[in-house]
Amino acid sequence: MEQHGEMEKEIEELRKIISESDNIVFFGGAGISTESGIPDFRSVDGLYNQKYDYPPETILSHTFYRNHCEEFYRFYRDKMLCIDAEPNAAHLKLAEWEKEGKLKAVITQNIDGLHQKAGSREVLELHGSVLRNYCEKCGKFYDVNYIINSEGEPKCECGGGIKPDVVLYEEGLSQQTLQKAVYYISNADVLIIGGTSLAVYPAAGLIDYYGGHKLVLVNKTPTPKDKQADLVVYGKLGEVFGAL
Ligand code: NAD
Repeated sequence: MEQHGEMEKEIEELRKIISESDNIVFFGGAGISTESGIPDFRSVDGLYNQKYDYPPETILSHTFYRNHCEEFYRFYRDKMLCIDAEPNAAHLKLAEWEKEGKLKAVITQNIDGLHQKAGSREVLELHGSVLRNYCEKCGKFYDVNYIINSEGEPKCECGGGIKPDVVLYEEGLSQQTLQKAVYYISNADVLIIGGTSLAVYPAAGLIDYYGGHKLVLVNKTPTPKDKQADLVVYGKLGEVFGAL
């Protein structure tokens, strides 16, 4: 009960912050999609705690992709493609704020496309998207169904190998996307960080560009930035945003 009262107070505070701003930016990660049924990496039931021959970080690396492409795709098709997942209350609320002119951008480490499915328009996908795939030889684009319906290493009609438009470990992020993210974060009035362990760099370093004093953190578990935040809400994003 005590905890519930505390959370209600924080949600009320968050409501006030939101109502007074028209320049909100959301920075998020895998935790926003767990309530849509997509596992994150670091929770107890996340992918890091399930058993594979190699840790997910190894399988999802550039070196592994190059050297064991078939095995990469076996894991990738099995665990990373959740195309039936639907946006939850948190994705939907962010899209609503953007339509109302309150939110400027969603900056996400996710690759699931759920923000766009919820109606968000200005979505900066730092790590790309599983919905886009391209031939490494001729550049032709393929949708996710092509990957799902193929076997082994998917091939382009030109014979080239098809790679997901996803930033694998060891690969660099798009400079253009990074620059836009820095722009939005450094100009934000309110920065809400949600559903991320802030363990993956350089993405996590972007929040240091925020210079305001309305830094809000909504996460199920503590993060390295909790002490810097002006408001911390420990809870599930879908539940917290659903209550706003
Ligand atoms: P992470 O797994 O490292 O951390 C997730 C964080 O979210 C944890 O702190 C966890 O406690 C919290 N969390 C989980 N469910 C929550 C909920 N319902 N409400 C609030 N908080 C919740 O994820 P990360 O920081 O995004 O880093 C992992 C990397 O993996 C990213 O680079 C991302 O590209 C990738 N990834 C993406 C997806 C996706 O697209 N949905 C899924 C898994 C991993």
